Formats: sequence, C-alpha cells, structure tokens
Amino acid sequence: MPLADADTDDTDDTADTAGLRDRLEGRAGAMVADLERLVVAESPSSDPTALRACRDVLAEIGTARLGVDPTELDGGPDGEPGGLLWRLGPAAAAPVLLVGHLDTVWPRGTLDRRPFTVADGRATGPGVFDMKAGLVQGLHALAALQEVGAGVPVAFVVTADEEVGSAVGGPAVTAAAAEARAALVLEGSADGGALKHARRGWSFYEIEVAGRAAHAGLEPHAGHNALRDLARIVTRLDELADDTTTVTPTLAAAGTTRNTVPDAARVTVDVRCADLAAQERVDRGLRALVETEAGLGARVAGGVNRPPMEAAQAQDLLATARACCTRLDVAWPGSAAVGGVSDGNLCAAAGTPTLDGLGAVGGGPHAEHEWVDVTRMPERAALVAALVTDLAAVADRPARTLAPDPAEAR
Ligand SMILES: [Zn+2]
Repeated sequence: MPLADADTDDTDDTADTAGLRDRLEGRAGAMVADLERLVVAESPSSDPTALRACRDVLAEIGTARLGVDPTELDGGPDGEPGGLLWRLGPAAAAPVLLVGHLDTVWPRGTLDRRPFTVADGRATGPGVFDMKAGLVQGLHALAALQEVGAGVPVAFVVTADEEVGSAVGGPAVTAAAAEARAALVLEGSADGGALKHARRGWSFYEIEVAGRAAHAGLEPHAGHNALRDLARIVTRLDELADDTTTVTPTLAAAGTTRNTVPDAARVTVDVRCADLAAQERVDRGLRALVETEAGLGARVAGGVNRPPMEAAQAQDLLATARACCTRLDVAWPGSAAVGGVSDGNLCAAAGTPTLDGLGAVGGGPHAEHEWVDVTRMPERAALVAALVTDLAAVADRPARTLAPDPAEAR
C-alpha cells in the first residue's frame, strides 16, 4: 500500500500503511451488533448474577473477535464477580494495557423503558457510553491489529465494579498497570471526543462525632450536643478548599428522638483534588479540624480512595495520540482535565503513563440521555489500534517511565 503523502520523515514506517482506519470502518456493523449484545446484557454493579451473565457475553464476543480466551480475574470476598483479562502477543515484552469496566450504574429493568436503539447514527441504552462502546472498540482495535499480523504485546483488563469504587477490580488494574509500558483507558470521551489527560483525585470520609444524651426539656445542660459540634465542623470544611480542591459534605444524620440531645452525629465528606499534595493537605487538615471541634471525640473513617491522574503522566501519550490522528486522517479531538475518577487514576498511581477518555464519542454518562455516536466508533478504534502499535514499537521504552530513578531518589 503506498504511503498517504511524502511528509513522513522518520515516521514513515508508522504511516497508516496497514490501513487500520479502513479495516475498522469495515467493522462498523459488527461493532454495533456487539454493542447491542453487551447493552442487552444489563450489568448493574450491585447485581452479581447480572454481572456474571454480562461477563460471559463479553468473553464470548472477545473470544470470537480475537481467537483468544480471557482469564477470569479474582472475585471479591462476598461473592462479587471478578472481571476478565486478555493477553495477546509476546509474553516477554512489557504490554500496552487497555482498561475498561463492564458494570454500569443502571438497575436491571432500565432496558424496558430505554431499550437499545440506533437512530440517526446515535446508539442509546443503559451503559452504552459508560462504557460498553469503549469495550467493543477496544476488542475490534485489537482484532484489526491481529489481521495485519502486528503481534504486539497487549493486556486488556475489564473490571466489574468500577462504578462502586473498584474494591475488587482495582488491585487487578494496579497489578496490570505496574507491569505495563503505558495504560490506555477506554472510558467515554469528554466533549466532542476529547481525550482525558488528567483526573482529580478522590477522597471520602465518614466522620462520627460523639456527644452525651440528655432530655432536651428537663436538663439539656447535662448533655453534650454532638450535632452542634458536627455543625461547626461542617461549616469550617470550606477552609480546606481552594480553586482546584472541593470539600463537600454530602450525607448527614444525628440524634435519636425529637426531645433528646444527640449523643452522636455523622457526616460524609467528598473531596476532589488536582494533585496529591493537596489531597494529603486536606487529609491532615480535616483530621485536625475534627480533633479541634469535637468536644467529646470523634471517629474518622475513610481517606484517599484514588489519587489524582496528573497531566504530566499523559503528556507523551498525548503527543503520540496526536501523531496517530494525523496518520489516520482523523481530526484531533483535543483533550481535557476532568473531575470524575476512573480506573485511570489507579494506573497513574502505579507510576504508569496513562491516557483516558479513549472510548466512545457521545455523552450523558450516568444520565437518561446517555448516547454514543456510532459513526465515530471506527475512528476511535483505529486511534486505539494505532496507539498500541506505536507504543509497542518503542523497544527501549521502559515498562514504567515514571518510576523513580534510584540515583535520583532522596
Ligand atoms: Zn465508566
């Protein structure tokens, strides 16, 4: 196949000579069919039976497309199902990691009122954008690479509890990321297809303040009102926030009856930070604040759930993605820093270069109007395929470019 143009300098061996985009355009119909099968297999995070059924469908689709059976990942202690892991290509080389999840936020039965539908190039249905289309695009990207005999080292990990904090799937993602040269996360894109180069970190806390109960009419002075202490804590939380840090009280409860001084009061606090230093500062500040204001003591549970995915870890990958778009003749979709977390945070925390939002173009994650632009599924899959090829081709790229150099450690 001739090169597309002469402007190839040292990248001519990576021009789209394999015709990845054409190959994936040819798979457009199959991708939509696979997407329908996955969406019809509803998979709310809290329903182990449904999750297992959806996992089986995904395993079937993946095995049909790749000719390779996945490994089942370990489940949780209370019967939560684990996810799936495909490994392709030479085992000796550090793989490029693809990351996704098969669980959704939609309860079983959502499909009855919002069935899988494709109209005017838009697919709708529960979990279509977050993130079943991303899974389909990932599998077809790898299948197209197999067609051209790319033989690149790849691991594709799909978890089953991302929407509820990745307690079960998180360790598998972290382990896979730790041995990978880079992580590509197939979550839905930001606006208009933009990739996600940074995510804020997420911490949450449950604070329980102690008080002493007493009759609110007969001898309120004999009690110690835990709700008053908690109120002071809540109103001072903003002292811990800044331009890029939010500290938000979300759930609260206090007291036992309408005429009793509360002997306990509880609040849950959601914290989002752009960098790890801020996350640690808020952690210390929140604990100090509670200690100061809780007269009879308090218990603080929780802490950092996912550290931030910082922009520095996506920088090289963004440049590579941009070059891939040029080569594939795909318009550069841009990139964005976003507030929500994903398993991309875990990949970045493992010290692995990470780029997120490589999944579907569409919108409305966790919303009734959730949708996917099916006409752009092929170009997104082609971008993933081209990225995998480029990253795998850099033979001397260490598995963990951001791991500290021992000579520099101090
Ligand atoms: Zn998601």
